[in-house]
Amino acid sequence: MKIIIIGSGPAGSGASLFLAKNNIPHTIIDKAVFPRDKVCGDGLAPKTMHILKKWNPEIIAKMEALPTQFAGGWGGLVVAPNGKKLDIPIKKPEIDALPPGFVSRRIDFDHFLTQQFDPKWTTFVQGAEAKNIKRLDKGFEVNILREGKTETHYADILIAADGDKSLVKKMLTPRPQNDAHFAAGIRAYYKGVKDLHPHNHIEFYFLNEVIPGYFWVFPLPDGRANVGVCMISEYVKAHKINIREAMLKAIADHPELSKRFEGAALEGKIVGWGLPLGSEPGPLSAEGLMLTGDAASLIDPISGEGIGNALYSGWLAAEAAVKAIQENNVSADFFKENYDKRLFRCIGNDLRLSYIFQRICRYPWLINFIVGKAQRNKVFMETMSCIFDDMAIRAKLYSPWFYVRLLVGFFR
Ligand SMILES: Cc1cc2nc3c(=O)[nH]c(=O)nc-3n(C[C@H](O)[C@H](O)[C@H](O)COP(=O)(O)OP(=O)(O)OC[C@H]3O[C@@H](n4cnc5c(N)ncnc54)[C@H](O)[C@@H]3O)c2cc1C
Repeated sequence: MKIIIIGSGPAGSGASLFLAKNNIPHTIIDKAVFPRDKVCGDGLAPKTMHILKKWNPEIIAKMEALPTQFAGGWGGLVVAPNGKKLDIPIKKPEIDALPPGFVSRRIDFDHFLTQQFDPKWTTFVQGAEAKNIKRLDKGFEVNILREGKTETHYADILIAADGDKSLVKKMLTPRPQNDAHFAAGIRAYYKGVKDLHPHNHIEFYFLNEVIPGYFWVFPLPDGRANVGVCMISEYVKAHKINIREAMLKAIADHPELSKRFEGAALEGKIVGWGLPLGSEPGPLSAEGLMLTGDAASLIDPISGEGIGNALYSGWLAAEAAVKAIQENNVSADFFKENYDKRLFRCIGNDLRLSYIFQRICRYPWLINFIVGKAQRNKVFMETMSCIFDDMAIRAKLYSPWFYVRLLVGFFR
C-alpha cells in the first residue's frame, strides 16, 4: 500500500519517523523548503519529549548537544493578574542530567525533525504544494505543484498533517471553524529582555487585558526570548480586541514587564497565526484517511501546546497505518477504531481537563485565588512539578479524589 503524508511539521514528521521505525516506505510532501519558520511559542513541553523518546531514547541528548538551537527549560512560572507568582520547577539542573523540555525556534526544531528522516523508507518532497485531492474508487489522487509543474501522486492511505488551514480537511471532511474552540496568537522575538529565569522557566502572565488567554515569555538560546499573546477567538471578535496592541501595551505599561523590556529590542516582525483547540473533538478519519496535529484540531485548550499532540497523533496514525497494511483494511470503521478511538483514549482526558481549566481561567479573581493558595501549599507544588513530567502521575488528574485531596490541602 502506498502512504502519503501531507505536511512536514511535527505531526507529519512524527508520522514519518514512526513509519520508518516500522520499516514502512512512504512519501512526505511539504510546500515549504526546510528550514522554514512557523508562528509558535517555540515551547517543547515534556509531552513532546515523551513522544520523541518513544521514537528514539537518544534524541533528547542529541537536542541538548545543540545549545544554539535548543534551550533546556526546567519548569514554568505562572503570574496571576494581581502579580502573585507560582514558580513550578519540573526538574532541577543540579540534580537531573537532562531538562524536561526545551524552547527552540520552529525554524530549527522542525528542520531538526526532518533531518532525522531515514532515506531508506522516507521520500521527502519539499517545495511541493498539494493543490487538489480527489477520492478515487480505491485510494486518493493527490495533485502537487512543484517548480511550476503539476505532478500526480496516488495513495492508498493519506495522512493529513498540513496544519490548521488543512487543504485535506477542507476537501475531504469539511468542518466550519468554531471561534469558541479556536484561539488567535501572535509571536515576536526580542533581544535583551531582563531577568529571564535562571533555570529558563517558561513564563505565563495572566493579564486582565488578555484573559481568556495569556501573555508569554519563553527563553530561547542566546539570551533571546519568544514573546507573545494568545486569546480565544470568540472573545477577540466579540470585544474587537487588537491583540498586537494589547501585547505592546503590556510591554510598555505593565509594572513588571515594562521594567524587564526596558532597552529590549524587537527582532523581525510581530506575526500571527491561529490555534485550533482540541476542546471540540470531531471525526479524525475517514476511509483511507487520518487527520493529525492542527489539521485535527488537537491543541491543548489552556496551554496552547500543540506540538506534543501533533507528534502523538502522528505516532498513532503511523501505527494505525502499519496495522491497516497488515490487515489489508483501510475502511472508515477500521481507522475510527484504530486511530480516533485510540488517540482519544490517550489524550482525550488531557484535552477535557485543560478545557475545564481554560473555563476557570476566564475569571481573574479565581486565578488570583488559586495562585495565592497554591504558593503556600507544599503538597500542591510538589504534585504540580511531577504532573508535567510524569505521565503516570498525570493520569491521577482525571480522578475526582485528586481534587478532593488538593482542596483539603488548600484550606488547611
Ligand atoms: C502563536 C502560537 C503559539 C504557539 N505556541 C506553542 C508552544 O509554545 N508550544 C506548542 O507545543 N505549541 C504551540 N503552538 C501550537 C503549534 O504551533 C501547533 O500545534 C503545531 O505547529 C502543529 O503542528 P502540525 O504539524 O500539525 O502543523 P504545522 O506545524 O502547521 O505544519 C504543517 C505543515 O504542512 C505544510 N503544508 C500546509 N499546507 C500544505 C499543502 N497544501 N501542501 C503541502 N504542505 C502543506 C506546511 O508548510 C507546514 O510545514 C502555538 C501556535 C501558535 C499559533
